[in-house]
Amino acid sequence: MTADPVIVSPVSATPDFAALTADLMNRIDSLCLLTEVPGTIQRTFLSRTAAEMHAALSAWATGLGLDAWVDPAGNWHAVLPGSAPDAPTFIIGSHLDTVPDGGKYDGLLGVALGLTLAGQLNRSSAVLPYRLEVLGFSEEEGVRFGVPFIGSLSALGQAGPLLNVQDSQGRSVRQAMRDFGLDDAHIEDATLSGPHLGFLEVHIEQGPVLEAAGQPLGLVSALVGHHRLKLSFTGRANHAGTTPMTLRQDALMAAAEWMLEAERLARDTPGLVATVGQIQAFPGASNVIPGRAELTLDLRHADDTLRAAKLAELEALLQQVSARRGVQAQAEVLTVIPAVPLDAGLQSGLQRAAGQLGLAPPTLVSGAGHDAMILARVMPAAMLFVRTPGGLSHHPDEAVAGEDVQAALEVVWKFLLGLEVRADPGAQVHPEAHADSGTQVDSGTQP
Ligand SMILES: [Zn+2]
Repeated sequence: MTADPVIVSPVSATPDFAALTADLMNRIDSLCLLTEVPGTIQRTFLSRTAAEMHAALSAWATGLGLDAWVDPAGNWHAVLPGSAPDAPTFIIGSHLDTVPDGGKYDGLLGVALGLTLAGQLNRSSAVLPYRLEVLGFSEEEGVRFGVPFIGSLSALGQAGPLLNVQDSQGRSVRQAMRDFGLDDAHIEDATLSGPHLGFLEVHIEQGPVLEAAGQPLGLVSALVGHHRLKLSFTGRANHAGTTPMTLRQDALMAAAEWMLEAERLARDTPGLVATVGQIQAFPGASNVIPGRAELTLDLRHADDTLRAAKLAELEALLQQVSARRGVQAQAEVLTVIPAVPLDAGLQSGLQRAAGQLGLAPPTLVSGAGHDAMILARVMPAAMLFVRTPGGLSHHPDEAVAGEDVQAALEVVWKFLLGLEVRADPGAQVHPEAHADSGTQVDSGTQP
C-alpha cells in the first residue's frame, strides 16, 4: 500500500512544522479548558463539555477549509476530499473523552494532530488520491457507562447491544444520545461505509518504554491480549497466638508465595506482565490466621499462545505451592481477550517515512486497549506512539514534548504523502469480519 507517492497535485513546499507544532500545542491547551470539573480535565461521553469540544473542533476545521460534522453516535468527523468523489478513505483519529482528572493529550493529541495535517494539506492545495477523514471518537474510556469503545464500535455498526447499558443515574446510552440531540433511531448512519485504506491512531505511549530507549516515537506491532483470573486459597483459620508456625495452613501465606512465583515467571518472560491488583484475607482479623484468601490475576502478552502456556505454568505452580502448604487452591478464568496484531504494511510505511527523516522508531506492543484494536477488525490499522515523560498518563501531569509532537507531525505528513491507492483498493469495510476474527471486547478490556 505504501510505495512511491501517487499525488495528483504534488506538494511543493515543506510546511513550517515548528509553527504547526506551536499552533497544535496551543490549540490543545485551550481545548482542555473545556471541562466538566473546573481546575481538572474531564470530558465524558455525551456531556455538555463533549458538545462544546465538538463545536470548538468544528470551528477549527471550518477555519482550515474542511467540512466537519457529528454523526448519530456522537463521533466527530472532518474531511479533506480526495481526487475523485469515489476515492477510498484513509482515517486518522483517536478519542475525545477522558477519564476523571485526566491529562491533556490522551486521545485529543491524535485528533488534533490529524486535523492539523488535514488543514495543512488543504492549505498546500494537495489533492490526494484518497479522502482523508479525521475522526474523534465520542467514547473510549468507559467512564460513564462502564463499557469502553462505544464510539469506535458505533463506527463499525457494532454498538447496538450497548445502547441499553445504563449509567449510574439509570440513564441508558440511547436516552443519553437523545438528550444530547443525536438521532439514536438512525445510529446505523454512524457506520463507516465505502472502501477504506486504513486507520492511523497517533497516541501518547502512556508508558516508560520510549523514554527509556531515548526515542521520540514508536510503532505499535500489536495490542496485547489478556487473561483475567480469580484465584482462591482455602486453608484453616486458627488462633494467631497458640498455633505454631509449623502447624499452620495459612491461606494468605500460600497466596503470597504463589504471587512471588508469578512475579518471577513474568520477569523471566520478555513481554509478559502479571499483576495481582486485588487481594482479600478472611476472616480478616489481626489475631486470626487467614483461612481463606482471594485474589485477581491480570496476565498480558501480545502472543496468545505464549500467554496460554505461561498461564498453564502458573496453574501448575499454584498446585505445587498449595500442596506444600496444605491448602486448597482454585483458579477461575473470568475473561480472555485475544491480542490484536496491527497492519504490517502500514507499519512499514510509517517506518519508511520516519527513516526519510533520520528516525528509527522502535516497535513495541501496547499494553492498553485503544480504538485501533476495534478498527483493526474491518480495515488495516496502525498506531504511532509519542514518548510520554515519566510514562505518566490518566493523570493531570501527563505531558508531551513539543519536539516529539513535531517529529510525529513530520512522520505522518510524509506517510500520508506516500500512501498509495491501488486500482482495486481491496480494503473495503467489512463489519461482518468481526464474526470470523475471534476478537471480542467486553467491559473487562480497559483502555
Ligand atoms: Zn487514550
